[in-house]
Amino acid sequence: MSQSLSLQQLKEAAEQFGTPLYVYHAEKITEQYQKLQTAFSKSDVQIFYACKALTNINILQHVRSLGSNIDCSSINEVKLSLHAGFTPERILYTSNGIAFEEIEEAKDLGVHINIDSLSNLEKFGKKFGHSYPVGIRLRPNILAGGNLKISTGHDKSKFGIPVDQIEKIIALVTKYNLFIKDLHIHTGSEIKDVEVFVKGIEVLFDIIPRFQELEFIDLGGGFKVPYKDGDAETDIELLAAKVKEAFDKRPNPNGKSLQVWFEPGKFLVSECGYLITQVNVLKESTATVFAGVNSGFNHLIRPMFYDSYHRIKNISNPDGEEKKYSVVGNICETDTFAWDRKLNEVREGDYLVFYNAGAYGFEMSSNFNSRFKPAEILFKNGKMHLIRRRDTFDDLLKNQIEVL
Ligand SMILES: *Cc1c(COP(=O)(O)O)cnc(C)c1O
Repeated sequence: MSQSLSLQQLKEAAEQFGTPLYVYHAEKITEQYQKLQTAFSKSDVQIFYACKALTNINILQHVRSLGSNIDCSSINEVKLSLHAGFTPERILYTSNGIAFEEIEEAKDLGVHINIDSLSNLEKFGKKFGHSYPVGIRLRPNILAGGNLKISTGHDKSKFGIPVDQIEKIIALVTKYNLFIKDLHIHTGSEIKDVEVFVKGIEVLFDIIPRFQELEFIDLGGGFKVPYKDGDAETDIELLAAKVKEAFDKRPNPNGKSLQVWFEPGKFLVSECGYLITQVNVLKESTATVFAGVNSGFNHLIRPMFYDSYHRIKNISNPDGEEKKYSVVGNICETDTFAWDRKLNEVREGDYLVFYNAGAYGFEMSSNFNSRFKPAEILFKNGKMHLIRRRDTFDDLLKNQIEVL
């Protein structure tokens, strides 16, 4: 049985803590993690939660308690992970275009590092030589993922060192006697077709023999989650089988078997999250009927940013007659969540819930229009915990310096 929160639980959260409100369900994260555990139980695979999807410290602690490792996109995420109790050997910093100083800081903290540019690789070699093992983030030149904005491995993407520059990489590795312990690729997000991962492995297999000290291969994240009823998620069992098959077919020529790392973000936390909003106004027009809610892309930017689909439910009137509404926000910019969506009859004051709001929801929120960021709630073991209070007016002024 798939874990989800009931309409009643969501309504209680909204009534107790007000809206807009982010609600997360710990047991759903556990369920997703266990799916990965089960699927990869026969392989030497490690999971690193890509925490940029959702970094509330309680979520990090819950993920840690499950036994997961963690993947970070900034030095501050590394520090949050340490704060959440991850030991350095369970933390991976996959960098992208960062200053060398941040790489040095990550090294001082003792975490795993994937370097994504020739210039930082050279600086690292000059300073640390063979003394500190690192990984290389490669760009495999594969186009995959749900939307161009979330594709990261294609031949025009900024991410990673293009794999066609392999000779330049090898030259640096040789010159500075670098200790390369992993090769990393992350092709994008919402990859349903497991063949994409196999293709990635094949790109890597061609160059693996050139690195003598490799310990693992990091295939990144990007597993797809379902957004609509009947939507498929990445078939993790099939992925596990395909990855095992690919590695069995091409054993590492130096005899050392390579561990495989994955960095799922969305897969672990997308479905655990709900954004509860309340309808401020209904507005009839010739084109559509607008249901204007007390939120906007300042709280959930995904629909406007990359056309993502979020299931919406009227939890205040779940048996009401179905009609079409366009759900929009209350900020002064176009912020359409859904156009002509069938919902149970909506009345002003009703609670509308957005599903799949755990990943890249709160995390990408802002104070645009000088509105407050929502509060966050965690349901765990049937109990509701406030894990971030709603902003207050003081938060808007917190870092401002009045000089006039
Ligand atoms: C964002 C990111 C991920 C996670 O992507 P999802 O689509 O959320 O699974 C994994 N690895 C890296 C390097 C990333 O930047």
